[in-house]
Amino acid sequence: MVVHATSASLLQQQIKGQVIIPDDANYEQKRRGWNLTINQYPAVIIVAEDVEDVVAAVRYARETGLSVAVQSTGHGLQLPANDSLLIVTSHLKGVEIDPEARTARMQAGTVWGEVVEKAVPHGLAPLLGSSPHVGVVGYTLGGGIGWLARKYGLAADSVRSIDLVTPDGVLRHTSPAENSELFWGLRGGGGNFGVVTALEVNLFPVASLYGGHLMYAGDLAASALRFYRDWIEAVPNELTSSITVVKFPNFPQVPDAMRGKVFVMMRAAYIGEAVHGERYIQAWLDWNPPIASTFHTLPFAEIATISNDPVDPVASAYSNELLDSLSDAAIDIIVQTMTSPVSPLMATELRHAGGAINRVPAHPSAIGNRDALLYMQMVGLAPTPETQSAVEAAIQQYKQDMKPHLRGNVYLNFIKGHEASTRAKDAYSPETYQRLVALKNQYDPELMFRFGYQLVNTAKR
Ligand SMILES: Cc1cc2nc3c(=O)[nH]c(=O)nc-3n(C[C@H](O)[C@H](O)[C@H](O)COP(=O)(O)OP(=O)(O)OC[C@H]3O[C@@H](n4cnc5c(N)ncnc54)[C@H](O)[C@@H]3O)c2cc1C
Repeated sequence: MVVHATSASLLQQQIKGQVIIPDDANYEQKRRGWNLTINQYPAVIIVAEDVEDVVAAVRYARETGLSVAVQSTGHGLQLPANDSLLIVTSHLKGVEIDPEARTARMQAGTVWGEVVEKAVPHGLAPLLGSSPHVGVVGYTLGGGIGWLARKYGLAADSVRSIDLVTPDGVLRHTSPAENSELFWGLRGGGGNFGVVTALEVNLFPVASLYGGHLMYAGDLAASALRFYRDWIEAVPNELTSSITVVKFPNFPQVPDAMRGKVFVMMRAAYIGEAVHGERYIQAWLDWNPPIASTFHTLPFAEIATISNDPVDPVASAYSNELLDSLSDAAIDIIVQTMTSPVSPLMATELRHAGGAINRVPAHPSAIGNRDALLYMQMVGLAPTPETQSAVEAAIQQYKQDMKPHLRGNVYLNFIKGHEASTRAKDAYSPETYQRLVALKNQYDPELMFRFGYQLVNTAKR
């Protein structure tokens, strides 16, 4: 569908933000997100400046028959929003902290680092993930597993209320008391029900933590994974951790000692006194001296240093699966895949779940698979269409090899592309999935919002 200049300028008269069509100079820059593999060509882009702009944009899409995509940072774009109306929320900034109630109200364009900055002076912490540059909405609606997850649950569990503009162009407040079915489905159902304009979440009293990473040479990968499997059996909920087998790319920017080589990284955060956290990390030091250790007491403001995720845009292809256990046979496949000289994969990360994730929250949501033991993420760099195809094919082969050891479910925040259409249902129990589809049919029967993970596969309509 084409949006003509006259139609765009009529829309421009109604809104404060920018209306951008393909002929405009800034179209090229605005159509892209953080993950450079999504190469999308929306018919029109609206950079919203306030909630009224979002309402006007959704109503315009409704009148013109355009489908709607939403983008904050572009860290988690799932499907290319071609021929759509793309609403960019990144200018909707603002975080209000209520230190007494221990809550944060965040506008839709907020990123986690901005919440941390405002919460830390009050000794409070939000449930962000590994990167402070990720947006609060996409992350939270998909679940949101971060370094406090085993102690305080998923970010979705911390949500108190959500404001959104539904496909009929109406701004609605949702909470356990108001529009409660929408409130249930948004937390886990993602961007399927409209454009979120604000989120209110609980904060937690964490001023500092004991965290960091240990690094081991790749030839210890199999034994490190076995050690990790046994170690997580006895750790408390105060400790959230992950283990990653990483193959550093053969790029000139990578130091010689690491280029093209495999390493194992064990990352963890302990919420409590260092003296108690040290006990658990000491077990690793006793097992094998690491090449490097960064564990120390960090102020909460420095939590992002545990993962040191990339800041600049990256082209990557990735997927995930959930595991209930980690057998020796599964470990062998992980090690063979990651050490194969021909594999284009860069990393396999296993995140330890359980703890508070596996508690039914005060206000139940659509989040599924709470009892999974491990979230397994597979990722490779994909700077060209050819490398993207190679990484995607390698991931599918990897999943095939791992099949007997997988639960058959996925975690929504780590799927994209074809799997965003075909695997979303595997994130839920069959009952939850049916309830979400009913909610989708009620609020968005024409599938106006179809570029996030798809509850109803548009190809089948
Ligand atoms: C470096 C990096 C680190 C990460 N670390 C973690 C982690 O530790 N834990 C974890 O759980 N996930 C993590 N993720 C995954 C991340 O949570 C998802 O990619 C998430 O979708 C990003 O949200 P965003 O709003 O920043 O991205 P965007 O790409 O802007 O949005 C992603 C999707 O969210 C939906 N969405 C966004 N804003 C709105 C809105 N206002 N209204 C309705 N729908 C909306 C849309 O469907 C959109 O397609 C990480 C991703 C990256 C790239």
